[in-house]
Amino acid sequence: MSLLLRRIVPASQLRWGASTTAGRRCLSTGSPDTVAETAGINVSKLQITRKNPSTPPPSSSLVFGHTFTDHMLTIPWDAKSGWGSPHIRPYGPLALEPSSTVLHYAQTIFEGMKAYRQENDKVTLFRPDMNMKRMNSSARRIALPTFDGESLLELIKVLIRLDKHWVPKEPGHSLYIRPTLIGTQKAIGVGPPNEALLFVICSPVGPYYPKGFKPVALYGTTEYIRAAPGGTGAFKLGVNYAPGVMPQKDAASRGYDQNLWLHGPEHHLTEVGTMNMFVVFKQENGTLELVTPPLDGMILPGVTRDSVLSLAREHIAGKKRLGNLPDNLVVSERPVTMKEVKEASHSGRLVELFGAGTAAVISPVDRIGYLGEDVLIPTGEGGMGPVSRPIWTELVGRQTGAIPSDWSVPVAN
Ligand SMILES: *Cc1c(COP(=O)(O)O)cnc(C)c1O
Repeated sequence: MSLLLRRIVPASQLRWGASTTAGRRCLSTGSPDTVAETAGINVSKLQITRKNPSTPPPSSSLVFGHTFTDHMLTIPWDAKSGWGSPHIRPYGPLALEPSSTVLHYAQTIFEGMKAYRQENDKVTLFRPDMNMKRMNSSARRIALPTFDGESLLELIKVLIRLDKHWVPKEPGHSLYIRPTLIGTQKAIGVGPPNEALLFVICSPVGPYYPKGFKPVALYGTTEYIRAAPGGTGAFKLGVNYAPGVMPQKDAASRGYDQNLWLHGPEHHLTEVGTMNMFVVFKQENGTLELVTPPLDGMILPGVTRDSVLSLAREHIAGKKRLGNLPDNLVVSERPVTMKEVKEASHSGRLVELFGAGTAAVISPVDRIGYLGEDVLIPTGEGGMGPVSRPIWTELVGRQTGAIPSDWSVPVAN
């Protein structure tokens, strides 16, 4: 990276800071007189190359992640000049040199967020600022360039407005948005790339469970790990996902839907497939405890995870009571072991266990295959438990904009 620092500063004092001046981003020491002269994402330089709008296929035929809208957004970056002109253009292949570092060393990060179409045809995004923040944190972890999240979000809104007719209207449907950033340096060698490409593609998707909630079976995976202390599990890096495919196939061959990733000699529960994980215990005095593992560096900080925690805490604090959500509820971010889950299952103190993520929102679990035994989990009425059901109802309401909240951000009128 080429940095024109006006005075020498120790590397430890350098930090990436969000820029406040229009479209500029800099490596700063905290003092205004030392800035790098590289450009931030400049929204006003956006070029748009339109194609004639095509007709989306019927929503009933959609398979998750297989159909893409008419346009995509690309923004090039290089170390000398920073972010180049954003371009919205017809969806199509990228030209990459075979030497591009992304193809050799997995220099790629991504995000997943959704746009919803309300009954009045207004299109909204759900907490997109969280995705922009997380994408920057992923970029930092893998030495890809960071960017001003607000500028990228503005450009994503322009893209969605252009392809608005691709946002499905049917209940439970949405437009899945996939921002991606790759290292494109044209030279084989491991290091921070001197070139990168940010792109955003959009895919109309149907509900994850078209026929109502179908609880999933998990394979308590002890042979493989998804993440480790000091590793990259807390970031949405491409490198975290390919190694999970073989264990997923392994779980499927044993008759389970997903891996339950366990960690350490005590088999701590970490995540479910590519979702965060929640479990509800009934304590001896009857209080229900909603538990999720803490953000200890191995857990991906999910937007859905944060939303579930916030809704439960708002309910407990009396800020926004959720109908049917029990009053005797406590929320914990703490480690959970398989021993605890198994004992609670046997003693009748296990209330429910579920995954949480943007794609499926909430995914109830009905059993965990663990060391040759099936640990059974209650799933409640209609496949959903007494804590997840009211939280899911509120969450989906806020996501779609049916329940007004500041989590819902307008894209187009
Ligand atoms: C994306 C992801 C999640 C869920 O995050 P959301 O922001 O809620 O979609 C959880 N775990 C992993 C490993 C993920 O990649």
